[in-house]
Order: sequence, then structure tokens, then C-alpha cells
Amino acid sequence: MNQIFDMEKIKKLFDEAEAYEDDGTLIKTIYLGDIRSITPSGKVYTPWAHSNLDACPKCKGNGHVRNPHGKIKDWTIARKKDRQLTINALDNFGHYGNWPSSTKKVVQKYRDQQDWWDPWPSCPECAGMGSLEARLDQDWNEQAERELNEINAWMHGSEGDGCDIMASRGVEDDSPET
Ligand SMILES: [Zn+2]
Repeated sequence: MNQIFDMEKIKKLFDEAEAYEDDGTLIKTIYLGDIRSITPSGKVYTPWAHSNLDACPKCKGNGHVRNPHGKIKDWTIARKKDRQLTINALDNFGHYGNWPSSTKKVVQKYRDQQDWWDPWPSCPECAGMGSLEARLDQDWNEQAERELNEINAWMHGSEGDGCDIMASRGVEDDSPET
């Protein structure tokens, strides 16, 4: 994906914005655009109301595809082993980085088996979201957040009709080079 924001313009908008107090901190907020014109789908929806999204053609919108070598029994066994071993390893060694390599290896083996036997893996087209539009929007969101994060800003909605996309940033972050 190409760069979403022109960061020079975004910085300029922040420079020109008026600071205000929010929960005891001085912040600035700028308007990035309307959700209907700047996101890939241009559609407004929520996780609980998204019938306006087109269903993914590959999985017909259910987010999963059939695995030709899927086997529910073997998948269930591998899943159980993975869980048991993971719980034991967390108990014995703490977080994943501390696990001995022999433990990591055997857990990985059961994870690979799960992928292989999984009767209904996530659809590779829409990443299990059931809609290509939703997937593109999600990718867009993640990238937009990363870009704004570089200047310590974050993205959020407005309190109005929910179609405005705004970005805010603390005033002390205005000049990150100092
Ligand atoms: Zn799909």
C-alpha cells in the first residue's frame, strides 16, 4: 500500500491547530477526512452491523474455506496437545522466549499439524473476515495508525455522526526533535 498521509501536510495542520485541554493534558486535534471518502471501502459499518459490505467471493462471506485434506479428528487431537503443552510450558518456563528449544519444537509440530488438518481454515482472500472490503479497511487502518504513530499522533472518530476521522497529538510531542 502506498503512503496514506502526506506527513508534511499533517504536521502543518497540527502546527496550525489550536491546543486545548483534555483530561489535564494539552492536545491538538485535526480533521483527516470523512470515513466514506478516505477508507478503501468508503463504507460505514460496525462489527455488529455490516450487511452493506460485499461478501468475499472466495468464501461467500463466511470467512472460512474448506481444506481438501482437513480432518476434524486429527485437528482436534493436535489442538489438545498444543494446548496442554503450552499451558505446561507457561507454568514451567514462563513466557515463550524462555522455553527450551526442544519444547518450542514439539509445540510447533502440533501447531503445524493443526494447520494441516484444519477442516475450515481462515479464508486466505479476506483473512477470515468474510469481506475483502473489511480486510482492505483493516489494512488501511493499521497502516494509517503506523504512519500517525511516527509523529506520536493517534487516530479516532469524532463525537458527531461518526463519519469524521480525526487525529490527535499531545502538545509536548509537537517537536519530537527537541
Ligand atoms: Zn473470504
